[in-house]
Amino acid sequence: MTTSKRDYYDVLGVSRGASDEDIKKAFRKLAMEYHPDRNKRDGAEEKFKEINEAYQVLSDSKKRTAYDQFGHAGITGNGAGRGFEGFENFGGFGDIFDAFFGGFGGSRKGGRQDTARRGADLRYSMTIDFEDSVFGAEEDIELQRTEVCSTCKGSRSEPGSSPTTCSNCRGSGEVRRAHQSVFGQFVQVVACAVCRGEGRIISQPCKACRGSGSERRNRKIEMTIPAGIEDSTEVRLRGEGEAGSNGGAPGDLYIVVRVRPHEFFRREGYDILYTQHINVSQAALGATISVPTIFGDAHLDVPEGAQSGDTVRMRDKGVPYMKSTRNGDQIVRLIVDTPKTLTEEQQRLFQQLAESFGDDSAESLNDKSGFFDRLRDKLGGSD
Ligand SMILES: [Zn+2]
Ligand SMILES: [Zn+2]
Repeated sequence: MTTSKRDYYDVLGVSRGASDEDIKKAFRKLAMEYHPDRNKRDGAEEKFKEINEAYQVLSDSKKRTAYDQFGHAGITGNGAGRGFEGFENFGGFGDIFDAFFGGFGGSRKGGRQDTARRGADLRYSMTIDFEDSVFGAEEDIELQRTEVCSTCKGSRSEPGSSPTTCSNCRGSGEVRRAHQSVFGQFVQVVACAVCRGEGRIISQPCKACRGSGSERRNRKIEMTIPAGIEDSTEVRLRGEGEAGSNGGAPGDLYIVVRVRPHEFFRREGYDILYTQHINVSQAALGATISVPTIFGDAHLDVPEGAQSGDTVRMRDKGVPYMKSTRNGDQIVRLIVDTPKTLTEEQQRLFQQLAESFGDDSAESLNDKSGFFDRLRDKLGGSD
């Protein structure tokens, strides 16, 4: 703790009979001038401490009376030490300064606004073929985005020129504005309107980007579609979004991948569903048939006595698992087609088959009119 030998009134530059208001005004003016954040000259901090010390005493009527009567000795022996302790505990210069000036110290954090800002994210949607979703693909994306100006590299100044320090705020990016309130005068710190808080002014803006530091560009971006990607998957391409400002990182590009439905394959998880029609003899006797898969035609064993609606699994003929070498299956749903027309030969064979099954209605196949006659008889119709 510094104990000044100088007269407190001299320190603040006020007369002995100065009013509280005069003392406060003088303190503000000096504190502003010597605040260590703003004044980097040698001795400024010492001076600032001295100013604070003087103000601590002269702004307190008890201490001021003791000081008036006994000088520095009166303060030291009369609780002034504790008073200064209190000041120290107050948290240092920044805090006491905030208390008087409404957050000057704190506002420095938000002062100059040329801080790096991350670029915005972009969204894009694309539709790919079913096969590409299964096997993966390379796709080109064409989009327009904001990039760092290639002429000024984002500096916003015409190449060869450099920004000048704002004369309004002397480069600090902030200005103080005095306000009257019921508690007295407060000083508010706001961003400088001339340089918009940046502390500097672009005297010769880059012609290519008109001083914005960025430009719109059409870009072709290559994207790898991973094998096995599902419909409506969102893929993030880090750093492929809009450019950041003041050296900030670019945003990300989010791509929603839609998969065009296939003519006859349908995906369910990692399995592929397929419907295969078979005829009655294949269903009854079983058969080995050729079935399309995404890997090309493959053999499928239709089991004996297959029913319409039965499913048969073709192992490993489905969609490749992402991050694995395995595949899903192809699930084949069998539909047994009953023939709509028969050749004479087939008709004869079916008839034999019918007789073999011992079906009552076998004769009716032979004589359709006979069947209808009997039906009419049963219903008791006339004619
Ligand atoms: Zn530029
Ligand atoms: Zn300014």
